[in-house]
Amino acid sequence: MIYFDNNATTPLIPEVRDVMAPFWDQAYGNPSSVHSLGTAARVALDSARKKLAGVLGVTTGELIFTGCGSEANNQAIVGTLLTHFPSTGPTRNLVISDIEHPAIKETAAWAAARFGFELRVAPIRFKGNNVDTAPFLELIDTHTVLVSVMMANNETGLVLPLAPIFAAAKAVGATCHTDAVQGLGKLTLNPKALGVDLMSFSAHKFHGPKGVGGLYIRRGQKLEPLIHGGPQENTRRAGTENVAFIVGMAEAAAIAVETSCDGVRQVRDYFETRLEQFGNLVQINFKDMPRTPNASSVQFRKQDGNLMLIKLDRGGIAISTGAACSSGSLSPSKGLLAMGLSEKEAQSTLRFSFSKLNTCAEVDACMAVLSKLVRPR
Ligand code: PLP
Repeated sequence: MIYFDNNATTPLIPEVRDVMAPFWDQAYGNPSSVHSLGTAARVALDSARKKLAGVLGVTTGELIFTGCGSEANNQAIVGTLLTHFPSTGPTRNLVISDIEHPAIKETAAWAAARFGFELRVAPIRFKGNNVDTAPFLELIDTHTVLVSVMMANNETGLVLPLAPIFAAAKAVGATCHTDAVQGLGKLTLNPKALGVDLMSFSAHKFHGPKGVGGLYIRRGQKLEPLIHGGPQENTRRAGTENVAFIVGMAEAAAIAVETSCDGVRQVRDYFETRLEQFGNLVQINFKDMPRTPNASSVQFRKQDGNLMLIKLDRGGIAISTGAACSSGSLSPSKGLLAMGLSEKEAQSTLRFSFSKLNTCAEVDACMAVLSKLVRPR
């Protein structure tokens, strides 16, 4: 199978699997135990935290490990709103973009309704070759407690202009959170330079294991924990630590930032150049916008995306229509509609997302399959 669905998840790389294995077979102690097996696990946990902190340019006390990126996002949103709850006086609000992952959108909608906040959703408009920040700036006011905007969109790779949005949020004292799940390993990630208070990430998007993620919490930032009942993560997230997965995530993150994105960009660009053979039957979405180096969102005019996905799968190519979670449903991706595509355009859009493991030879093989499917009607 040729795997071009790396925004959904990435394969675990052998280097990462190798550093994880001992924590199941040999060093299986609980990091909270005082005997030597426990101490070995504690040492590994501490050194993984140090490694990850180094990768992100933050301190070890500013990181908590979570069960996934969705949990990190839930912790950021709900944990922040709870620090303002119950609130008296005028209704406070939180601002998110219209193209956030459901782990933000649905969590924000639920938490706002549950705790009495107003949810403001900034529409995505474009100004020149960038997302227009004006709709965000219009929604941020002195009653805004939280602004959460993703670093890069999972469906298209579109990179959002975070700096001016977070500058406006900071000016009114709002907490700034970014969902960087699609950023780590693809974009320069520096929460300090970006000035964010909270940043989520997830290991399985950068060749680490599924089921582990993390949240950067700026030193001094207030955040209510969601999981109670233990001293782990400085009482910010109870539960025996998943040592093997955390060690794997730190290793994967270090490898991800050490490995240049030039190779994956070349593969993606080669793919897009090869698509030119289809002329105007094919249109690349957001080609001239800031995008992650690995993503290509492509409209195959007059084609049904879901049908093409199945045919490509039969031809040995794994891709996705829009977001993985909306695949299998016949309605067009809400995210693509929010990014300005018509229903028809969204319905004929496929997402090809590459990784540093992919090659131009695989693109050639994919083109051979595509050539049989993309023909003028
Ligand atoms: N945020 C974004 C932008 C994502 O793409 C994803 C996963 O697709 C998530 C959050 C959720 O991460 P996880 O699968 O680790 O829960």
